[in-house]
Amino acid sequence: MHRWSKLFIPTLREAPADAEVASHKFLLRSGYIRQLGAGIYNYLFLGQRSLNKIIGIVREEMDKIAQEFYLPGILPRELWEESGRWTGMGDNMFRLKDRKGADLCLGMTHEEIMTAIARNELRSYKQLPQIWYQIQTKFRDEPRPKSGLLRVRQFTMKDSYSFDIDKAGLDKSFDLHDAVYRRIFTRCGLKFVAVEADSGAMGGSQSQEFMVYTDAGEDLIASCPACGYAANLEKATSRLDPVVEMEATGDGMPELVHTPGCAAIADVAAFFKISPASDIKCVAYMALKRGTGGQKDAWHGVAAFLRGDHQVNETKLIGVIGAAELRTMQAEELQQFFNGPAGFLGPAGLRHDAQPLGEGLTVVVDRALEGRKNMVCGANKLDYHLRNVTPGRDFTWTLAAEIRSVNEDENCPKDGCAGKLVVGKAVEIGHIFKLGYKYSESMGAHVLDENGKEVTPIMGSYGIGIERILTAAIEQANDANGFCLPAPIAPFTVVVTITNVADTALRATGEKLADDLEAAGLDVLLDDRDERAGVKFKDADLVGIPYRINVGKKAAAGQVELVDRATSTSVDVALNEVVALVKKRVEEEQLLASSS
Ligand SMILES: [Zn+2]
Repeated sequence: MHRWSKLFIPTLREAPADAEVASHKFLLRSGYIRQLGAGIYNYLFLGQRSLNKIIGIVREEMDKIAQEFYLPGILPRELWEESGRWTGMGDNMFRLKDRKGADLCLGMTHEEIMTAIARNELRSYKQLPQIWYQIQTKFRDEPRPKSGLLRVRQFTMKDSYSFDIDKAGLDKSFDLHDAVYRRIFTRCGLKFVAVEADSGAMGGSQSQEFMVYTDAGEDLIASCPACGYAANLEKATSRLDPVVEMEATGDGMPELVHTPGCAAIADVAAFFKISPASDIKCVAYMALKRGTGGQKDAWHGVAAFLRGDHQVNETKLIGVIGAAELRTMQAEELQQFFNGPAGFLGPAGLRHDAQPLGEGLTVVVDRALEGRKNMVCGANKLDYHLRNVTPGRDFTWTLAAEIRSVNEDENCPKDGCAGKLVVGKAVEIGHIFKLGYKYSESMGAHVLDENGKEVTPIMGSYGIGIERILTAAIEQANDANGFCLPAPIAPFTVVVTITNVADTALRATGEKLADDLEAAGLDVLLDDRDERAGVKFKDADLVGIPYRINVGKKAAAGQVELVDRATSTSVDVALNEVVALVKKRVEEEQLLASSS
């Protein structure tokens, strides 16, 4: 049994001013963590105890479908060169040299290492499928670490990798992970949602994220309350209402109009008395193309055109043109590619490349512009716009694709669903991903199939952020006084608070009760500190323990008080019944979680 008087639980009245999100504030105030540097944290007793419980659940469930490995965190450059990611990971990768000058990195993920093991060891289809996992420290040189454990440079991941002989096998490995992840998050007491996610840039075919809705999250999810559709904003789509087209003026061909000072969409719409949906917006980027086979990286001009009331989704754009990253075009580059100033850019008269990221300009048109007519756009000339502009007739493009973000209240994309989309913030706790052949092919992993023919195994990769589970749980259940963790991941299930330790009878009752709770299989913390009762109650409310039993004045009459932290309610219970009652509540909580 653990006694608070002997433990190191450094609670704080106030959180540092830079702690903004609830989980960051409360992890510090409750003495779970302490910051060591930007995005790196010490995990103290309570924090580590909770993380160990999370790891225990993850391991127990993963062991049902996979085999646990433990790979190094420090990795040789050569394997990353084979996959192309030594360059591809850019500044996100921590790199170092050993005493002989050899390049090494700190692992952010382990596709390369697992694939190398498969390549070196697997020979026959009879050895497939394989699913290998590990629970291990990862490193990532985040540009802007913040929000406590939400965006860090060192963290703990469960990552697993599947190797199958064919697509049907991969589907099965993916579905196994989907089911196991749902069990893990349910057991951890999280209210999560599984969403479709972007899979483009990594060359995979199916990608699903597990998210917990919270304002502390940095991901946006679009979902439909009517049918349950849910997708990351990088992937989400919607059905647009038809637009009422403008009547053509004059001969119906593009006409130059003097629009002094009308650089913003709203000004243009007001000037022409049109809806922004009839204006063509231009967003100009420079896109980085990674050099292959000895070529250097290079920046290329990209013009994205979309409806005036829509926003570019840069992840979608990066995916369709195959860029490594985007930045905004500068004034001199605008002059070079458009021969015009910001605010008056348009597609008419632009020369564009036939293929994305060629030598000239890549013009990408959002699908919502296809089939439209009589629109307004910039004339690539200061203070001038064009009207009567019809896509396809008056300008063409390198490629058309959906590059817009969906907006709240747009129509659900599912056939026959009349629901409207809602957009909310969320934090990602897990991700499952059909990788395909990217690594097995580039790194030359092969096995012989049943006809003795060499085939390439198909892979999946799957991750769970261990600290993310803790932070998401805090974000979903906190109040002014602290937070409440679900019993399975709380550092302790129940704290027994002796209100006055100087009272020997009270003390004996508390000790006996803690013993009984422990004997019943509950994880107990005995608050035997020589402190005022109020201080102890405050600390207990702060540190995330779901149940508290106060052993106070009524104990002499055989009564204790049971406080439920989640609801902040308390009841008087007979001393000889309280152990069974706490046990029952913990079990009911788990049943409720697994049935919802
Ligand atoms: Zn729907």
